[in-house]
Amino acid sequence: MSENTEVVVLGGGYGGVKAANRLARRAGVSVTLVNPRPDFVERIRLHQLVTGSDDAVESFGKVLGRNVRLVVDTATLIAPAERRVSLAGGTTLAYDHLVYAVGSGACAPGVPGAAEFAHAVADLDAARRLRSALAETPATAPVTVVGAGLTGLETAAELAETGRHVTLVCGGVLGPSLHARGRRSVARRLAALGVRVLEGAGTRVTEVTRDAVRLDDGRDVPGAVTVWTAGFGVPDLAAHSGLTTDAHGRLVTDATLTSVDDDRIVAAGDAGVITGRPFRMSCQAAVQLGTGAADTVLRRIAGKSPAPVRPLFAGQCLSLGREEGVTQFSYLDDRVNALHLSGRPAAGVKEIVCRSTLRQLVSGARKAGSRAVRDDTPDPRRNVPA
Ligand SMILES: Cc1cc2nc3c(=O)[nH]c(=O)nc-3n(C[C@H](O)[C@H](O)[C@H](O)COP(=O)(O)OP(=O)(O)OC[C@H]3O[C@@H](n4cnc5c(N)ncnc54)[C@H](O)[C@@H]3O)c2cc1C
Repeated sequence: MSENTEVVVLGGGYGGVKAANRLARRAGVSVTLVNPRPDFVERIRLHQLVTGSDDAVESFGKVLGRNVRLVVDTATLIAPAERRVSLAGGTTLAYDHLVYAVGSGACAPGVPGAAEFAHAVADLDAARRLRSALAETPATAPVTVVGAGLTGLETAAELAETGRHVTLVCGGVLGPSLHARGRRSVARRLAALGVRVLEGAGTRVTEVTRDAVRLDDGRDVPGAVTVWTAGFGVPDLAAHSGLTTDAHGRLVTDATLTSVDDDRIVAAGDAGVITGRPFRMSCQAAVQLGTGAADTVLRRIAGKSPAPVRPLFAGQCLSLGREEGVTQFSYLDDRVNALHLSGRPAAGVKEIVCRSTLRQLVSGARKAGSRAVRDDTPDPRRNVPA
């Protein structure tokens, strides 16, 4: 190995940025982060983008240390034997260690008509398209949100608070990851916002058309706009590169986040999965896994054995519109307990979590050589053309 160690981080989301900043603090380690767009996307605010209370974008100049070289491009293939990554722009990057942090986005619904007629909120482009579609739709027209996981609940509430007539189609239980008590609080808030909730048997969507969704009990739910929020999917880069992935396409790793195929590749965030210990895809896990991935690489560079990574969870924070929310507390292993907070205090908790997550990244950037932490202007020197 050369004296200078080259680390390439694929993906500039929560996990990738956290890992890159941490790695870039170490002398003798050069860090290159590859991301398709020149800005950091705050995915946990994308439902706010849809209604216009936030743009969900921050400058990489704010969250990425100056010691990290940013390449605005998309990785198309990893060649582990040659330790190279091909980029869509036509160049390749050589690495000594690779951090796989390509995250997640909307998953393919697998229901007739959904790809054609349903919108998503799970990535920036999709959320912007949804915002445009809503802008062209009369305010009184019905809107259908499919999926009652956290993203669906937040999206339905956010839309209803702006006066939209929202039907939430659960396809089963409302808020399956919540405790029954937390679930009841969410249901009360949705009722207060006027959201019509269809849950339980017979509410799985079997088809989406231009102006309705069809349920498996035969009912049609009319809607001018349909938003599909049922589940996240991951990029197929790892599978396409011949690396071992699980049924969802996540890179399979051991407890140190190291790929089971290659100890030069580690995963961070939604795009990876630890054998036998899958985590709920979340920003909460991604930032911790970013730290863990960086530490695994740094220990290997130092000739030491990496340590197992153990992310700890505190709960699930939901904003239900701008005014209220629900905070579902959990045990450290992410199993929910009976404690929850609702109303305005919970909305406050969610906002604190969003801000403190960003602050964590800004603080990491400062330690990795950022000079102007509050400077929103991207530094063109760090945008290396592909
Ligand atoms: C509306 C909404 C609300 C949410 N709220 C919460 C919440 O309150 N709490 C919580 O814990 N989680 C929440 N989440 C989930 C959370 O946003 C994700 O779990 C988190 O973003 C995962 O972080 P990550 O770093 O793994 O990936 P991401 O944040 O998805 O970042 C991955 C990055 O990799 C880039 N990338 C993709 N493919 C490539 C490629 N081939 N080459 C290079 N780069 C690539 C992507 O463009 C992206 O920039 C929410 C999600 C949504 C959509």
